[in-house]
Amino acid sequence: MTECDVLVIGGGATGGGIALDLALRGVRVVLVERADLTDGTSGRYHGLLHSGGRYAVRDPESARECIEENRVLRRIAPHAIEDTGGYFVVTPHDDPDYADMWMIACRACGIEVEEISPAQALREEPALNPQISRVFRVPDAACDSFDVLNSLAAAIELEGGTVMTYHGVIALQKEYDRVGWATVRDARTGEQREIAARMVVNAAGAWAGQIAGMAGCQVIVRPSKGTMVAMAYRFVNTIINRCHPPGDGDILVPVGTVAVIGTTSVTVPDPNETGVEAWEVQKMLDEGEKIIPGFSKVRALRAWAGVRPLYEEGHSAEGREAKRTFAVLDHATRDGVAGLVTVVGGKFTTYRLMAERAADVICAQLGEVASSRTANYVLPNALDPHAPPKPHWPGHRLLDVETSSGFDPLICECELVSRSQLEQTAREHPDIGARWALDDLRRDLRLGMGPCQGGFCSYRAGGVLHAAGSMNAAQANVAVSDFAQRRWKGQWPLLWGQSLRQALLDEHIYRAVLGLDRLADLSLAVITNEASHRNE
Ligand SMILES: Cc1cc2nc3c(=O)[nH]c(=O)nc-3n(C[C@H](O)[C@H](O)[C@H](O)COP(=O)(O)OP(=O)(O)OC[C@H]3O[C@@H](n4cnc5c(N)ncnc54)[C@H](O)[C@@H]3O)c2cc1C
Repeated sequence: MTECDVLVIGGGATGGGIALDLALRGVRVVLVERADLTDGTSGRYHGLLHSGGRYAVRDPESARECIEENRVLRRIAPHAIEDTGGYFVVTPHDDPDYADMWMIACRACGIEVEEISPAQALREEPALNPQISRVFRVPDAACDSFDVLNSLAAAIELEGGTVMTYHGVIALQKEYDRVGWATVRDARTGEQREIAARMVVNAAGAWAGQIAGMAGCQVIVRPSKGTMVAMAYRFVNTIINRCHPPGDGDILVPVGTVAVIGTTSVTVPDPNETGVEAWEVQKMLDEGEKIIPGFSKVRALRAWAGVRPLYEEGHSAEGREAKRTFAVLDHATRDGVAGLVTVVGGKFTTYRLMAERAADVICAQLGEVASSRTANYVLPNALDPHAPPKPHWPGHRLLDVETSSGFDPLICECELVSRSQLEQTAREHPDIGARWALDDLRRDLRLGMGPCQGGFCSYRAGGVLHAAGSMNAAQANVAVSDFAQRRWKGQWPLLWGQSLRQALLDEHIYRAVLGLDRLADLSLAVITNEASHRNE
């Protein structure tokens, strides 16, 4: 049995933040995540480091939290943030009276707002709708959640903690009225083990209700699905928000070489329901057109959805009506179950604050007196300590490749991932073969995230990893098949024009030429057979 002071459940921003906060206070911490880090909502979010402007009118508490944490994250995670700045724009479709009320509310929350002329905004962002009547500048920014979580994991381990990905909690065990240990299952091998802890933290986001239920507690999380669409063109260098009460498809975020429009807000019964519906895609395109004329004519690359972990104790508000602040629930006082704390709600932008508040509650119960250090702890740039600070100008990765000695061959041309980068990252994940997870490398390197959506790079990546000894042949076949399936999930809602042509080409490469579906079935049978021989 593994033993620790605190077991943190959930490898999203909240869980990662809590584990680091505790490790920095000298607490022995283990973080478990059932898949890869950011596999939940943190890896499916819109990418906006909020200034708080969006919430200033209806939810000032969240707005204040956002602007304060926005300033902190710029200090501690500069490598993950592109300081794009943000505009709130009044389009002909917005109530012009809202803007003055909004500006007063922002100032009351401490958010810096500067009104600029539409002419100046159009000089800075010529693709914007020329009919905009007012424009306000706010300190929004774009934030890469994969970078943040990789850095959090590196920092947790640096500070003596343990991060276990692909280990899902399947049961919490109580002794009398105290949660004492958890049973976790290795998602790939099926092996089970127990982790004993003085305290358990439930940071499972939209799944927090399920974890609380394992200890006999009820936490009602209202999962709200939001769909986003990545367009194959970076229309703007500034984040654009519509200046109106929060609605669907009213934020456009430039991310690397693309721009992401979002989101919808649909209450779903199950947090695993992340399917994208046709009306959601159409809505995003229609709303995008109001911000950028001609928006819907550009190729849409990928559609995906995440699920907000909305929570308001004792309230039944759902979707956009629910507040975006967070709660730390001490189940000892709330439900008479000691040793368990749940942290739920909030935003990616406020993860550090949520973590600090949760760690305060936990440390008080453990008798630890150290206070939080995360507001001034600069996160290590885990994957690439030599990377230039953001913004990346679109050509910077190409320049890197072209000027590196030996002109490293490109495996993913869309995102400029080179062979040596792929091999190096695979070496950092020694269990990548057993996990057959090219998708984990995508999160690290952006492999397969460009216009071909993995069409040309998946099979190359499988071959390179096999040649490098990171995967055997069967594992590589299953990995390529799994990756192609995952990429397909984001393509199918967009099957028209260029995306349809690309999808048909991919279908021919993978099914007709490589026979991948059959190959993957056979390879999976080989892997299962080998595993059962090992277990005999
Ligand atoms: C569409 C959308 C857009 C958003 N845009 C923004 C934005 O632009 N800016 C912003 O600040 N916020 C945004 N948010 C909100 C933000 O993404 C979330 O509030 C935040 O990511 C939640 O992080 P979390 O760690 O609490 O949850 P998650 O990231 O979901 O982490 C919970 C983890 O728990 C794991 N887990 C579940 N069950 C188990 C188990 N049994 N055992 C082990 N692990 C388990 C899951 O796999 C998951 O990885 C957005 C949310 C959505 C849905």
